[in-house]
Amino acid sequence: MKRDYYEVLGISKSASEDEIKKAYRKLARKYHPDVNKEPDAAEKFKEVKEAYDVLSDPQKRANYDRFGHAGAQQGGFGGGGFDFGGDFGGFGDIFDMFFGGGRRNPNAPRQGDDLQYTMRIDFKDAVFGKEVDIEIPKEATCSKCNGSGAEPGSKIETCQTCGGTGQQEIVQNTPFGRVVNRRVCPNCKGSGKFIKVKCSKCHGSGREKVRRKIHIKIPAGVDDGARMRIAGEGELGINGGPPGDLYVVFQVKPHEFFERDGNDIYCQVPITFAQAALGDEIEVPTLDGKVKLKIPAGTQTGTRFRLRGHGVPYLNRSGKGDQHVKVVIVTPTKLSERQKELLREFAEISGEEMHGSGETSFFDKMKKVLRGEL
Ligand SMILES: [Zn+2]
Ligand SMILES: [Zn+2]
Repeated sequence: MKRDYYEVLGISKSASEDEIKKAYRKLARKYHPDVNKEPDAAEKFKEVKEAYDVLSDPQKRANYDRFGHAGAQQGGFGGGGFDFGGDFGGFGDIFDMFFGGGRRNPNAPRQGDDLQYTMRIDFKDAVFGKEVDIEIPKEATCSKCNGSGAEPGSKIETCQTCGGTGQQEIVQNTPFGRVVNRRVCPNCKGSGKFIKVKCSKCHGSGREKVRRKIHIKIPAGVDDGARMRIAGEGELGINGGPPGDLYVVFQVKPHEFFERDGNDIYCQVPITFAQAALGDEIEVPTLDGKVKLKIPAGTQTGTRFRLRGHGVPYLNRSGKGDQHVKVVIVTPTKLSERQKELLREFAEISGEEMHGSGETSFFDKMKKVLRGEL
């Protein structure tokens, strides 16, 4: 009994051409006898191939949908005879996957790799921006052989293994036919050339490691983890392809006093009980200098004040975030006898009302809890 083709490929009856192709590639890779050494792999591979041959052809698929397996045999499908010799048609893409792109021209220009550089910067440099020079270790064209890989003055010959094509054809006989596979020539590694005397500086690679100086403008307002692309400063292109890009990732060091959240700055400022109770004007440090802040009489600990426009500049528009100041009342730990005396006197005359009016409800609530009323 033949299995249903849709079942073989594990797809639905309404699968798109793309889904069919994907399912086929996956299964062909799984059961290909070069890869899978299980005894029934060849049989399964054949089944998958047959299902694909039918379902990937709109005419055959329509016949199969109407008449089943018998219908699929219509329209020129030979049924069982597999000859992969010579033209291996739909197989090219599979072999590309198996052998790492064996059919791709190894001499084709390719873009160089991207580089990533992590840059640790000071808190304030991230806020205000800065211009710096960095040194990146990267590859450059060998300065001695100009990239040819051959010692200057020596000859470069055509590779005899591949005749200069950079590719090698390997013919394999498999249980169901002849398979031709092209791979990168192992002798010349795809260049098609044979270097008799290798360059003494780069040993034939045509490249050398250099430290390249790059000027970086840290944008004002950049945040921790931000990534900046510098086009064309990555690794060299291959076979004359364009170079890759450099990505600079910023790592911002924390500040001892300021904390940053996006474009807003947070800090805590200590005040005395007397300042909080009587009110005062204090000086608060901001990123751009000292700023005067009015503390109203009766300020509670933990109260936050906002200093508009004293935060971090926005990257893509004008303006800045805000600075949020949290005042914290600091209880004195070392008191002189005179100070203690005054505080005792203060407590005595304050009595029940010493806690002021601002927080009465807070104290009222606690008293109620103590009396078991809440
Ligand atoms: Zn060289
Ligand atoms: Zn070769």
